[in-house]
Amino acid sequence: MDFEMRQKEVLKYLVIPSFEKTGLVRHGFSTRIGGVSDKPYDYLNLGLKKADNLENVLENYRIMCDAIDIDLYSLVLSDQVHGDEIYEAGVVDRGKGIWKASDIFRKDALITKQKKVALVTFYADCVPLFFLDVETPAIALAHAGWRGTVKKIGQKTVAWMMKNYGSDPGNILVGIGPCIKKCCYEVDEPVASEFKKAFAYFEELMVDKGEGHFMLDLVMANSRQLEEIGIKPQNMTISHYCTCCSNDIFFSYRADGGKTGSMAAFIELV
Ligand SMILES: [Zn+2]
Repeated sequence: MDFEMRQKEVLKYLVIPSFEKTGLVRHGFSTRIGGVSDKPYDYLNLGLKKADNLENVLENYRIMCDAIDIDLYSLVLSDQVHGDEIYEAGVVDRGKGIWKASDIFRKDALITKQKKVALVTFYADCVPLFFLDVETPAIALAHAGWRGTVKKIGQKTVAWMMKNYGSDPGNILVGIGPCIKKCCYEVDEPVASEFKKAFAYFEELMVDKGEGHFMLDLVMANSRQLEEIGIKPQNMTISHYCTCCSNDIFFSYRADGGKTGSMAAFIELV
């Protein structure tokens, strides 16, 4: 199963068909297409911590939220540091990080079971993880770069839902969004050795290119750790897009040489 590309006027964004079918959520993953920002944030930059023009970024939020029918004032933004800390958001958090000062610090995953609390996390090569427990119901987003992947933020997010919401992982749908794939994600020995320590099956996750260089498969490192905690393979939707290969559609930290915009994942319970 793959994400599906949608278009509204110039805007392009992705949705997860299995999430949509439940009727429980509004959600989407943005691309760089359809916004108003100038280079190097062209066009749909949603990163408010970049040196982009604030009015342009807010207009980009209006364009994206209008397309996915999410209220701009319901947004709750993460504060990502490549960590593994989780924040449970609620109605009181609406607007934090965009319309009002936020006290959500150093959180790479957001969770809620409250309705109309729109979780937002940010990406430009790192792995976007979407979660929907259809029974509770409850939702989560997690940001998994290589550090978050090694810290198993995906597993920790599911474990949090199991512990605090009584979620059964068999009822959790997962979406793994566009990210840098093994075709483009070359890492060196220090990163590779972290994966060797964290994953017994590390040999399946990387191809040794010689001279201390490895091509790393972040998608598999995330899907396998989610399977280990009980997510069913048939409940996972994985985008085929590599953000680095498809740099015309997506911001890519690597392809853009570090100076680029941010895409965002959005989800709320209706
Ligand atoms: Zn690629």
